[in-house]
Amino acid sequence: MEIQTVRNRSVHALNRTKIRLEAAIRQRDSSTNHGIPSDVEFALRRFFNSRATTFLDILLRRVQLITRVVPEVRVRRISRSYLAATSDNNSERHFGNMQLHTPAAAFPNEHYIALYSPYWEEKGQYQPGVLIHECFHYYFGHMRGHPRDNRRINAFAYQGLVCHLGRLPIGPGVRTNLGY
Ligand SMILES: [Zn+2]
Repeated sequence: MEIQTVRNRSVHALNRTKIRLEAAIRQRDSSTNHGIPSDVEFALRRFFNSRATTFLDILLRRVQLITRVVPEVRVRRISRSYLAATSDNNSERHFGNMQLHTPAAAFPNEHYIALYSPYWEEKGQYQPGVLIHECFHYYFGHMRGHPRDNRRINAFAYQGLVCHLGRLPIGPGVRTNLGY
């Protein structure tokens, strides 16, 4: 997929997620008090292991911030032949990531997201979800890892939420990491 297409699909999914979260917040705060929409309730439970609707406001804010990051963040394609030919401060990390067949990784200090060939290309339809995941790592300094017992700082939880509410295919990595 062209990177521009990946960015566009990501933004579309983030916007749709925002609309669903706003609807949930409205419903939560209404006097009729019928709970929140079932798709949002499901996503909270599945990806954040939570029923706490007080978290919705923070979630919405984070989704809004990432919607601005996705179109602008710099990406760099990195392959083995690129690494062999170029000296790069992060060569060791790049090699390590490629050893693990990692499709992408965030380098916020150097202001880019690395896309590793051929593992990035192999992600196909899951690329928008992966880009969103990396943008959460990139933008939020406290979200650099994937703790299963602390979903609010686990990038897979946000990837799952946006894919579910934004109607993107959810890659197998989300399920494996979150264990559902
Ligand atoms: Zn990650």
